[in-house]
Parts: sequence; structure tokens; C-alpha cells
Amino acid sequence: MAGAPDSSRRPAPEGLNAAMADQSFAPLRPGATIGILGGGQLGRMLALAAARLGLHCHVYCPDPDSPAFDVVRRITQAEYDDHNALTRFAEAVDVVTYEFENVPVETAAFLATHKPVWPDASVLATTQDRLTEKQFVTSLGFETAPFAGVNSVDDLERALAKIGRPSVLKTRRFGYDGKGQTKILAGMDPAAAFKEVGETPSILEGFVTFEREISVIAARGHDGQITSFDVTENEHGDHILRRSLVPAKVSEKVAAHARHIAEAIAQALNYVGVLAVEMFVMPHNGSYKVLVNEIAPRVHNSGHWTIDGASVSQFEQHIRAVAGWPLAEPVRRGRIEMFNLIGAEAEDYGKWLVTPGASVHLYGKATWRPGRKMGHVTLVFPE
Ligand code: AMP
Repeated sequence: MAGAPDSSRRPAPEGLNAAMADQSFAPLRPGATIGILGGGQLGRMLALAAARLGLHCHVYCPDPDSPAFDVVRRITQAEYDDHNALTRFAEAVDVVTYEFENVPVETAAFLATHKPVWPDASVLATTQDRLTEKQFVTSLGFETAPFAGVNSVDDLERALAKIGRPSVLKTRRFGYDGKGQTKILAGMDPAAAFKEVGETPSILEGFVTFEREISVIAARGHDGQITSFDVTENEHGDHILRRSLVPAKVSEKVAAHARHIAEAIAQALNYVGVLAVEMFVMPHNGSYKVLVNEIAPRVHNSGHWTIDGASVSQFEQHIRAVAGWPLAEPVRRGRIEMFNLIGAEAEDYGKWLVTPGASVHLYGKATWRPGRKMGHVTLVFPE
């Protein structure tokens, strides 16, 4: 097989090595294989970016209908705790990465005993738990909504007395797209709210009266090089991202601060790859504050615009980072609008195919369901 692990990790050409401060990892060569844990659309778009750079991908996912399976050289369909399958996967790849944050930490740690895994498994441990994540963000001196850990109805009553209402109760782990969270308004019964999130370890957050939601996609290489994309403004409906606009309508000062936050988080995590930081912009004393909502240790839906709207995509940056290659400095191609095709909206693909300037991406999912991300469309308006 081309790109067999050993032959493909020969020292890279001079220029490439010079960019690498971390000599413990020899940059991959074209023809090498990147293993991706997770087979959703993010894995699919990572694999497409890797293919353009002459790198192969091997996707590991338990789900037989994984959109990423369609576009890669090799697949493994197995559970994340199947050590035999994980060992064979590790033997077949040069480096491992992941495309969703709920990969079990044990899976990443097990693979790391065989092959380099980036981002490091410790990043998963920090970001899989909303309480640990918020404590990490505040330890860096950045702001979040006020928060408190909640393990019981008594804890929740104490937290409500401190944080007030409205507030949002979220499970510490495995929440996404608004699942595992409930808003607590005046007069609502705390016990009912705790029941609604499954009576599991949770976090209470003050409800932020934000003006906008923004995100920053940042990349960090092995050598510590960091780049970030222009700040993205995000609109949600039913807790699902519907539309991203770039540049975000924020001042230069807010934009610079938001990028600083994402880059500082990547640095503090000693991160290798692409991460996204979701933030709230909130009016404060005649100015604005930026509060961190969430860190996604992976490529992110709000960065899909970079495929058609920038000189390098978030997917290519991630592949470059985990391959030990230099990152590119992204250049935006204009004002951008990206919207998701969710559920039945994907049935309208024919309309977008004939819309001038629209770049259409369909993820190859056989059936649509309400709330399922089926594809996205990007419009670029040169400035
Ligand atoms: P999350 O799962 O934490 O990303 O939350 C999903 C969405 O819920 C966010 O994008 C916000 O629109 C909203 N949300 C989450 N937490 C808060 C909060 N503390 N205050 C206001 N809105 C929130």
C-alpha cells in the first residue's frame, strides 16, 4: 500500500524540517496515512482536504452509514472500545486525529501508546466536561457566564440563590446542539429542572443577554505556530447553527480580543490541530465583554465557510497541523454567508445548484431527519 507507515515518515525536505521545533515528530510525507476517529461530515471534509495534499485517510467509526466512509482509502467500522480493531487501525496509520469531541479519552490514550495522537487525549478530558472546561477558561483569566457545579437539587437551589434567574442548567458531559440543557425561569421548580437534565452531574450557568454569538477557529502547529481565521458571527435556531456570517459585526477591538482568547486557549492546551471557541458578545458599561461559551477541540461547523471563502480551509489547516506541516496564513476572499441545510431543507439542493455564486456541499446522508445537518451552502461576495 502506498504510504505504508515506516517509509512515509522519512525526514521531510529541509524547508519543512526547519519549521518544526518539535523534533520528536517527523513531518509526514505525501502518501502517508492519517487515521481519523469519527465518520461524520467533519471527517469527510477533513479527508477531502487531506486528499488534495496527497495524504490518505483511514476513518474509524462504529456507524456503518458514516458520511466519511465514502471518500477514504480505508475504513474500520468498529466500537471505540474494541482494542483489537484499534490496534489494527493504529498499525495501518501514521498519526491519529479525531473529528468529534466525544471520542472516549481511553480510546485516544490507548491509540497514543501505538501512534502519535493529536490533539492530545488530555485535551479531550478538559473539554468533554463543561465544568472542567469553564474552570480552565477562567484560570486563563478569560470570562464566562457565572457558573456552579450541580450534583443534587440542594446544590441547584444554592447555585440559583447565587447566580439568579434566568439561568441554564446543562449536563456536564455529552451535551450538543442544546441537548441536555434546560432554561430555568422565575417560579420554575428546581427539582423538575434537575429531572429534565437526567439528574446527572450538571452545571448551572447565568443566562447571558448577548448581542451576538461569535466563534474563532484557530490552528496550532507542532512548532507552536498559531493562526486564526476572521471572527465568525453565528445565528442559531433550536440550538442548532443555521447561519454564519463573516466578518462578524463587531469592532476591531472585540475581534482582536476574541482571536486572542482562542489563540491563548490553543497555546495553553499545547494544542496541535484546529479548535473552535464559541463566545458571546455582551454589552457592558457602554462597551462590550466577550464571554467564552464553549471550546470544540476539532474543526467546527462555523468554520465551513473557509472551504470556499478563504485561501486555506479549516480542514486543510488541521491536516497540515497533524501532519507536522507549516500552517498557511488564511486570506479571506470577501464577505461570506454560510448556511446549513438542515433536515428537509436539503431537498432544495436543486435550487442552490443553479444559484449564481453558491457553493453547494452535500454530505451524502441517505435520509433526512428534523435537525440533521445534511449539507451547507456558501456564498462569497468579493469586497
Ligand atoms: P451550548 O450547548 O452550550 O453551545 O449552547 C447552545 C446554545 O444555547 C448557544 O449557542 C446559545 O445560543 C445558547 N446558550 C447556551 N448557554 C447560554 C447562556 N449561558 N446564556 C444564554 N444563552 C446560552
